[in-house]
Amino acid sequence: PPGVLEVITGPMFSGKSEELIRRLKRARIARQRVACYKPDIDLRYHRTAIASHSAQTHEATTVATVERLREALYPQLSEVEVVGIDEVQFFDDGIIPLAVELIAMGKRVLMAGLDTTFEAEPFGPVPNLMAIADKVTKLSAVCMVCGASAIHTQRLGQSQELVVVGAAGLYEARCRAHFSPFTDEL
Ligand code: ADP
Repeated sequence: PPGVLEVITGPMFSGKSEELIRRLKRARIARQRVACYKPDIDLRYHRTAIASHSAQTHEATTVATVERLREALYPQLSEVEVVGIDEVQFFDDGIIPLAVELIAMGKRVLMAGLDTTFEAEPFGPVPNLMAIADKVTKLSAVCMVCGASAIHTQRLGQSQELVVVGAAGLYEARCRAHFSPFTDEL
């Protein structure tokens, strides 16, 4: 039977990693074998685990590229029923055919990542993954200005680099009213 793709998305602090960890732990309770990966750009808290802002963790293998992910996963694929990937926005579009292959092989594929950049643009392969998913869970965070439901990731400060990882205090969750794509004008 074919597998499924479940995408967990939303802004920073919306609980994507928490939700991914929750699903992976439940799969393990059900005695399913799990393999979990994250890009090596995300060194937040752990090299060998995915971690949420609320300090929950699940072991993960850090891989630099989709090609490295394939090399790590395929030798053990016959043993694996559930594949989890966190911070999936940092992988290139090669992650899309990989998802399609894994689904065709009957795997349950769980992918968590940002849907938009701090400029509110679609982020990497995530919109495509959402389009082909069986199930999309779009989470919201709490706006750090007013407490409303936040769908945006606000970049604080001036850096124009797309990716600044692990630096605490560089981002906040914001609602539509309190978000600015430029820097923190508010
Ligand atoms: P994500 O993977 O989406 O960045 P995490 O799962 O790492 O989210 O973290 C979610 C946790 O972050 C929440 O359970 C809460 O403890 C904490 N948190 C900090 N700031 C906020 C915020 N503005 N809105 C919601 N949760 C927040």
